[in-house]
Amino acid sequence: MKTWDAIIVGGGVIGLSLALRLKSERLRVLVIEKHEPVREATYAAGGMIANCDPHIPNALQPLAAASAQMYPEFVQQLQDESGESADLRDTGTIACFESGENPECTTARHLTGEELSQMEPLLQLSGSAWFLPECSVDPRGLGRVLVQAAKHRGIDFVTGSPVVEVLVVEGRAAGVKTTHSEYAAGVVVNCSGAWAGQILPLAIPVRPVKGQMVCLVPQAGAPYVGPLIQHVVRTPEVYIIPRSDGRILLGATVEEAGFDKRVDPDTIRRLYQAGVDGVPALAKMRIHDAWAGLRPGTPDNLPILGQTSLPGYYAATGHFRDGILLAPITAQLMAELITGREPDLDLQPFSPLRFSSG
Ligand SMILES: Cc1cc2nc3c(=O)[nH]c(=O)nc-3n(C[C@H](O)[C@H](O)[C@H](O)COP(=O)(O)OP(=O)(O)OC[C@H]3O[C@@H](n4cnc5c(N)ncnc54)[C@H](O)[C@@H]3O)c2cc1C
Repeated sequence: MKTWDAIIVGGGVIGLSLALRLKSERLRVLVIEKHEPVREATYAAGGMIANCDPHIPNALQPLAAASAQMYPEFVQQLQDESGESADLRDTGTIACFESGENPECTTARHLTGEELSQMEPLLQLSGSAWFLPECSVDPRGLGRVLVQAAKHRGIDFVTGSPVVEVLVVEGRAAGVKTTHSEYAAGVVVNCSGAWAGQILPLAIPVRPVKGQMVCLVPQAGAPYVGPLIQHVVRTPEVYIIPRSDGRILLGATVEEAGFDKRVDPDTIRRLYQAGVDGVPALAKMRIHDAWAGLRPGTPDNLPILGQTSLPGYYAATGHFRDGILLAPITAQLMAELITGREPDLDLQPFSPLRFSSG
């Protein structure tokens, strides 16, 4: 029977980034994905690398800052290997915050009205605006380059059946059981996002938090002029994300709706209106698509990273609104932990053992 050093459960941005990192440490890695890789939260995301956002919990800020720094090289390597683009844009973010909120980056700066209208002539913001030195990426493009790099580097994939249970031999993880078969490995990592709590024998406390998004494209026949705005724009009502091919994304709701991924037309209209209020020229574009995805939320809004109470069984999940941002640092720190090294940043605040079910 074929065995692996590590089984990654879940082929989203977190699972694939970690699989690549473990492979580069010369581990034999198997990714088990219940459907197709990168089709869940990762596929639904906006792709902001929002490390300056004041909503990032304090304990997570060192990881967010480190991960944002890693992003250009992380994406470049994957693009070089696959020959495809993940549309990493480093034009920055223009943000308006609720009163009392301040950005987390020391290099963020207030914009005067004149600067704002020079930087984004089509933007109409009320209230004071900040410039944040952030990037964005197209998560679907990122998903494609991750899958290609993983296959290229010899990571094995099993798709189409969910892992239902972690196998235990002599008190240690020894592999996993899917609805079809069993697979052996001394290390199992639960990277199954919003579904992480469904794998026996532990109930890792992750819940789905629904987010709806809208994608606008230029009207048919309109000449290509690039995106109408160059910066990501974030206000308390909406965020507006330009892609280099001219698409504009509007997001996103944050809803406690269980595993429901239906799109609600009224919600989509509200997001669209909020987008047009910020950039009236968006009214010239048409709605191409709308979707919903399930963020992996946790009871304290911090990710769950580390070894569980079952030796050999790890969790790397619960990244809530920041999984795209946090993928490179999660992969690095988890790979360090799994290969027996001291992680470069303290993972203690994120330990699965902080929950009684971890
Ligand atoms: C609308 C929206 C906008 C967002 N915008 C941003 C953003 O701008 N920036 C940012 O940083 N983050 C953003 N996020 C959050 C980000 O998408 C998530 O934090 C991140 O994708 C989580 O990645 P993941 O790999 O843990 O989960 P997922 O991408 O959901 O991957 C988990 C995978 O596990 C698989 N799986 C589940 N159960 C099993 C099982 N039992 N066996 C095998 N496979 C299984 C699933 O099929 C899935 O492919 C957004 C999320 C949403 C929904």
